[in-house]
Amino acid sequence: MNGKERDKIRGSLLAGAAGDALGYQIEFTRNVRERQVTDFLSGKGRISDDTQMTLFTANALLYRVAAKERGKLISEEQAIYLSYLDWLETQNGKRSEFTVSRIKSCPELHRLRHPGNTCLTALESGVCGTLEKPINASKGCGTVMRIAPVGLFYEDAAFCGLLSAKAGAVTHGHELGNIPCMLEGILLNILLHEETTFEKALGKALDIFRKESVIFSSHNVKYFSEMTDKAIALAAKNLSDPVAIKEIGEGWVAEEAFCIALYACLKYSDNLTDALIASVNHDGDSDSTGAVTGNILGAYLGEKAISENFLNVELRELITELSDDLSEAKYRLKTGQPLGELIAKYYDNLE
Ligand SMILES: [Mg+2]
Repeated sequence: MNGKERDKIRGSLLAGAAGDALGYQIEFTRNVRERQVTDFLSGKGRISDDTQMTLFTANALLYRVAAKERGKLISEEQAIYLSYLDWLETQNGKRSEFTVSRIKSCPELHRLRHPGNTCLTALESGVCGTLEKPINASKGCGTVMRIAPVGLFYEDAAFCGLLSAKAGAVTHGHELGNIPCMLEGILLNILLHEETTFEKALGKALDIFRKESVIFSSHNVKYFSEMTDKAIALAAKNLSDPVAIKEIGEGWVAEEAFCIALYACLKYSDNLTDALIASVNHDGDSDSTGAVTGNILGAYLGEKAISENFLNVELRELITELSDDLSEAKYRLKTGQPLGELIAKYYDNLE
């Protein structure tokens, strides 16, 4: 067990859930004022599809490594696709062909919390989208809001970036849906592994991103890079958060959602509560901008930075359990130890 990594992985997934729940309260509200919501209005935070799908991403990675130790080899992106089909079953009730996710049996995950149309229709098509064969032309933020576990599970930052983009492409075909996933995966990996300032971690992530993003069209990478530059510049100015966020967009599409999160993380890099509050109080896709902000800054600051009220979120125990299983599996793989009881948990005992 690596205590530091365990704290950061918990921090990322729990703060992501907190941001999701905070923003979900005003996802469809217009004319939102600065700091209109600063807490969960009904005591416990209600998570949305963003956190549900993030948990299925985490389960996919654990399923794959457990299956591998039983001699069943599938690619990471195939495991993620199959796990999302399990998620689809929780939403539409149609039984998926293979069960790869033990969390599918969790009744709370079957609640409908405004699942994204693109995710539903892409998965219902029966085809797995890839970077090479785009499944549609969508660049909705359903990609960046669910991929955090990828950036947290592997040792190599460039690998995390590429796999995060591939995980986005499973349901979203537009490059701008998946380019931000690449930077998010790289950044999460660096925040997890290195003790440095947020700004320095971002600088290093951008260096790696510039090399790795050559697989995408240069005009889309340029457009996204200009947006990240804008978010970085806005975070250094003394504007009110709604005014600054309006300059970036509303976050319904992936590049805007990621850049709103980046703005909030940079501006409040030592205060998770203020970052989450800033990231959701706008007229756009507040749950997703909150989820991504929590995923990123939680990986930097760790679980201890999450206030007690924000930890009072639905499925806290399950989120913590999956986080700890990710860090334990990661540690055992890195140190060459067998996965032990995690094999039964994530592979042998599936129905
Ligand atoms: Mg949502």
